[in-house]
Amino acid sequence: MKLVRYGNPGKEKPGLIDANGQLRDLSAVVKDIGPDQLGDAAVARLRKLKTDKLPLVKGKPRMGCPMAGVGKFIAIGLNYSDHAAETGSPIPKEPIVFMKATSCIQGPNDPVMLPKGSVKTDWEVELGVVIGTRARYVSQKDALNFVAGYCTVNDVSEREFQLERGPQWDKGKGCDTFGPIGPWLVTRDEVPNPQKLGLWLELNGQRVQDGSTKTMIFGVAKLVSYVSQFMTLMPGDVITTGTPPGVGLGMKPPVFLKKGDVMKLGIEGLGEQQQLVVPFKL
Ligand code: ZN
Repeated sequence: MKLVRYGNPGKEKPGLIDANGQLRDLSAVVKDIGPDQLGDAAVARLRKLKTDKLPLVKGKPRMGCPMAGVGKFIAIGLNYSDHAAETGSPIPKEPIVFMKATSCIQGPNDPVMLPKGSVKTDWEVELGVVIGTRARYVSQKDALNFVAGYCTVNDVSEREFQLERGPQWDKGKGCDTFGPIGPWLVTRDEVPNPQKLGLWLELNGQRVQDGSTKTMIFGVAKLVSYVSQFMTLMPGDVITTGTPPGVGLGMKPPVFLKKGDVMKLGIEGLGEQQQLVVPFKL
């Protein structure tokens, strides 16, 4: 099932994409796609709906982040060995965990704004994992049972803020608009193996990232289990799992985003995003 939220920012309605790719409204069934709708029982209830009876949504509305109420936006650094190499970093012995401010979350096609004073804003296509069931100290074997589904994430990053302004990364990761998520939350029954998904990103029509989740250093099950040793994962929390090679920082010379650039990115089966890069404004 492909769950979505559509409409103006802050006023999104719940919906789903049916088997024919058409947007159907879920407002009469649920108030929103939030933490309460992400557990196995709630998802099973939605899956039983006769989708052809749900109202069709006309036109092409804006898509929001496909789930409301994200409590934690957790990110994993340097989780693809060839990306670690391009940034000149050693391959991590344990997952590198950092946080993106939830205030950076936005819809998949909303513009990305360069932060005030930014000269090194960069892109990172990533597999997002959405937690469905509260998870504490879960084993790697059980970990995927705590996942509601998967989504496309652009872990937009300001490299100067991230790497030259102090020893941890959060300053360069949580700026406004740095967290496009969606268009769909694809429930985990439709993603039997999250470790074989192609993912890619194009900058102004040129493919710069072209990878597969099969080359992750730490897979999704390991990451959910690992993070749950340090904090309780709650329904609606997102773990974004690292990016394959091809970011601007790794180019020779490095390339960073400027006003008017367009990022287009996607993950096999999880849908595509497109963002126009716009200048800073308050
Ligand atoms: Zn990242």
